[in-house]
This record gives sequence, C-alpha cells and structure tokens, in this order.
Amino acid sequence: MDGTPVTVVSVRDVGPETVALDLETPAEFDAAPGQFVLLRAVPGEGAVDDPDDDDVVERHYTLSSPSVADTFEITVGVDPEGDLSPWLADLEGGETVHIDGPFGTITYDGDEDGDVVAIAGGPGVGPAIAIAEAAHDAGHDAVVIYQDDAPAHRERLEALADDDVPVELVAGDDREALTDAIETHLEAGQVYAFGFDAFVTTVAETIEDAGGDADGAHIENFG
Ligand SMILES: Cc1cc2nc3c(=O)[nH]c(=O)nc-3n(C[C@H](O)[C@H](O)[C@H](O)COP(=O)(O)OP(=O)(O)OC[C@H]3O[C@@H](n4cnc5c(N)ncnc54)[C@H](O)[C@@H]3O)c2cc1C
Repeated sequence: MDGTPVTVVSVRDVGPETVALDLETPAEFDAAPGQFVLLRAVPGEGAVDDPDDDDVVERHYTLSSPSVADTFEITVGVDPEGDLSPWLADLEGGETVHIDGPFGTITYDGDEDGDVVAIAGGPGVGPAIAIAEAAHDAGHDAVVIYQDDAPAHRERLEALADDDVPVELVAGDDREALTDAIETHLEAGQVYAFGFDAFVTTVAETIEDAGGDADGAHIENFG
C-alpha cells in the first residue's frame, strides 16, 4: 500500500504544539467528518519513492474540515519526540505526502444525522469541531466539550460560541469538570468523542457513570 501522492497545500499553527494541514484532495476521494486517512512520508524527504523503504513512517489523521472540496484539513498535535508529527509541523507547503483512505465507520452527515455532542481531548479537537460545524451548518444543535491545557483552534471555537453553540473548555487535569460537562450535555445529541486512549476511556466511563450508554457513543481512539 503506497498511497496516493498529494500536495501539502498549506500548514499553519492553530494553537500550542498544534498545526492544521490543508491537503490536496485526490481524484475520487470523498470523506465525511469523523473519518481518517493514513498519511505516509519519509520524514526529511517527503514523497515515498519506494514503499519498502525502512524510513517510511505512516500515521493516521482524522479530518478536521467539515467537508471535502479541492482540499481537506487534518489537525496534528505535535509530539516533540515523535517520528512524524514534528516533521509535518515544519512543512511550509508544496511538499508531497501520500495518503490512503478514507477509513473508519464513524461519520457525520448533516442531512441524515442530527444534533451532536462533540467531545475532544488534545488533537481530537480537529474532528470534534468539524462535526460541530457540520451539524450547525445543517441546522442542528451542537455542543463542544474540549479538554486541553493549551486549547487549539480558538478562532473556530469562538465562532461556534458566537453562534450560541455551547463550548465547554476543561483543563487537562480537571476530571471533575469533564464529568460535569459530559453529564450536563449527555442528552443533547449523538455523542462523538476523539482523542488518545486515556482520554476516550475516561469519556466512556463517564458516560456510563452518568447513566448513558457508552456503546451508543461514536468514540475514535487515537491509540
Ligand atoms: C484512528 C486514528 C486517528 C488519529 N487521528 C489523529 C488526529 O486527527 N490528530 C493527531 O494529532 N493524531 C491523530 N492520531 C495519532 C497519530 O496517528 C500519531 O500517533 C501521532 O501524530 C504521533 O505520531 P508521531 O510519529 O509524531 O509519534 P510517534 O513516533 O508515534 O511517537 C509517539 C510517542 O511515543 C514515544 N515512543 C515511540 N516509540 C516508542 C517506544 N518504542 N518506546 C517508548 N516510547 C516510544 C515517542 O517518544 C513519542 O513520545 C490518530 C491515530 C489513530 C489510530
């Protein structure tokens, strides 16, 4: 699987240690918010000339734009010790990476799906905002609950809040505030949750503790 080569159209900081990349949309590619791609590159070089090259690194990234047009967006939380995310954050635009996908059964379609409660930890904010925006654009209600000590995508969060979308920002270590926010909004719509393992496990436990059904929530675990 060597993927489709696509151009990185732009890279911008959207918060502390967080970047958003606009990627050229390949022909025949369509994806819904909630789905993810497999991005492959050789850090330091970019394009994957030889798929068997040991230097090829591949990681999954979830769409953070509410729709796919000529480009689509992913939001990358930068792990300074990581193999791929620091390299992605240093790109300037114009480079080539390879993507496969879309993958994943978690999707949001504004025509078919209704109100949403989008819960995010860390870089999970990308897909959470995308789903909240898609729901809002389709005339549905949305809530965003976002746990992070250094929130990203503040402009988009403020735009949602200005449109009366409740946005609950929770500090990274404040489990009580996260629990309160989830309990308060649990019944407000279909729950979607995105983030790394410890975060989404906490979210699932909290949903159960609050009398909800974690199996009915759409939870994407970043690993
Ligand atoms: C379905 C899915 C969707 C995802 N969507 C997103 C998204 O939208 N945005 C996003 O930012 N991320 C997302 N991720 C996570 C993403 O794929 C990467 O895991 C993340 O970007 C880190 O990659 P990296 O190459 O920078 O770090 P890695 O090289 O994977 O390293 C991560 C950390 O692990 C440590 N580490 C690595 N190897 C070892 C080892 N052998 N022993 C001990 N420690 C080690 C590193 O030091 C580093 O701190 C998603 C993951 C999945 C599975």
